Amino acid sequence: MISVAPAVASAVRHYDLFIDGTWVAARSGRTFTTPNPSTGAPLATIAEGDRADIDRAVQAARKAYEGPWSRVSARDRGRLLYKLAQLIDQQAQRLAELETADNGKPIRESRYIDLPQVVETFEYFAGWATKIEGDTIPLPGPLLNYTLREPVGVCGQIIPWNFPLLMTAWKLAPALAAGNTCVLKPAEQTPVTAMELAALIQEAGFPDGVVNIVPGYGETAGAALASHPDVDKVAFTGSTEVGKLIARAAADNLTKVSLELGGKAPNIVFADADLDQAVEGAMMGIFFNQGQVCCAGSRLFVAEPVRERFLERFQARARSLRVGDPLKPETQMGPQVSDEQLNRIKGYVTIGRREGATVLTGGESPRLSGPLKRGYFFQPTILTNVRNRMRVAQEEIFGPVTAVIPFKEEEELIRQANDTMYGLSAGIWTRDLSRAHRFAKAIQAGTVWINTYNMIHPAMPFGGYKQSGYGRELGRHALDLYTQVKSVWVDLSDKPIGWYAA
Ligand code: NAP
Ligand code: MG
Repeated sequence: MISVAPAVASAVRHYDLFIDGTWVAARSGRTFTTPNPSTGAPLATIAEGDRADIDRAVQAARKAYEGPWSRVSARDRGRLLYKLAQLIDQQAQRLAELETADNGKPIRESRYIDLPQVVETFEYFAGWATKIEGDTIPLPGPLLNYTLREPVGVCGQIIPWNFPLLMTAWKLAPALAAGNTCVLKPAEQTPVTAMELAALIQEAGFPDGVVNIVPGYGETAGAALASHPDVDKVAFTGSTEVGKLIARAAADNLTKVSLELGGKAPNIVFADADLDQAVEGAMMGIFFNQGQVCCAGSRLFVAEPVRERFLERFQARARSLRVGDPLKPETQMGPQVSDEQLNRIKGYVTIGRREGATVLTGGESPRLSGPLKRGYFFQPTILTNVRNRMRVAQEEIFGPVTAVIPFKEEEELIRQANDTMYGLSAGIWTRDLSRAHRFAKAIQAGTVWINTYNMIHPAMPFGGYKQSGYGRELGRHALDLYTQVKSVWVDLSDKPIGWYAA
């Protein structure tokens, strides 16, 4: 069952799996613990789903897809999604606190960025439910052709830990708007808010089995979902490495796949930029969400003439960030999500030093007191003297570590900016309008920000070029992922075709 407490600092909670509208223990009886990354203390115990539970959830999703959900009108699907958005909105403070306790992100982010975006994503796709239409296509002769845009079926959705509830919304909202049913596996590090959402899904009145949420480990529950023969579509957000495993697992059944993977985005400061604005953009680019953002501006290209001035300001701003207890409203940076991630980040700083980079500021864990001493904190870190082919400029660190690379002229800059296996996003800071648009065209990335960074909206498509994945989430493009097109032919003549008559 689900035990809900009013404040985060209460006893350890427990969540079962949510399958077919009920809360059930894992078949194996096993559970796992998710810690609070600020202190390392247990936050909740969770039923550990594996292949048997995924199987049960897929069956429930299939039954709902062919049964009750297929009879719910588009209007009612929209109303259910809208109701869910309202329920989330009413609980936004509590959900934000739980998100912060499970993930470590500052409450000012979970409460004023994540939660409002979650609500808006469900609202946005609620509106789409009644607007999914086919086409009629003019053809020569007495023929009518029209297309039907139908749901894909049962969707398996696997999400990461960096935006736990927001990624849940990105996956569920378009899939449900289009009439699919879902089995979602949250990340083992951050399952809490997805389970809380399950309770609200039930309260909103979705038929049993339309949404099933099965937490568990990637190698067991995740792999079972990706390779399940009765799953029609798999949607994954996470590392490029695991994205490849997903694509391989889905290949055997030719399950449709969409992948939103890693990034190593160039964030580019030209000499003519408004430097104060660019410094804030660099901060947002790499320190937001402790740097655990797939579209983070982790390669910071700075034009030679302004490099010194820019770094002086950037360094001062990075040092001034308030790192600490993420539940405190004034905190600007919380802990990394896990000790595993923390060690990975430390490892990359060591690699950077060995490669010849300089740690301008940060580079280690801050000294905090009390229970926070055991948290997974890391200082905002700036590496200078980086060259684009170094590992710290090519590999996704997924932490608050930026690699500063100086540049002299535009052509060479574009070549370097595109010299990466990733292509998720890019940013540019300049007052030169033509240069900004030239850059937007030349860069190989799914999102380009001009004089801003990390902007996301449910109406805008989001996704990657190259090894950052394929498919576009959000916006009307997300509906392409969750619908398939049927072409219907009608002969309008009063005589049969008679091809073989003569
Ligand atoms: P990950 O392994 O890619 O995790 C993403 C999701 O995939 C989780 O739900 C995970 O389950 C699941 N998963 C893992 N192995 C699987 C498998 N064989 N089959 C099916 N599902 C599987 O990411 P991570 O290990 O948490 O983080 C490692 C690195 O990935 C980070 O340092 C970062 O570079 C990158 N990352 C990128 C994003 C992004 O948005 N682009 C997000 C997170 C991480 P478990 O939770 O049980 O592992
Ligand atoms: Mg946790």
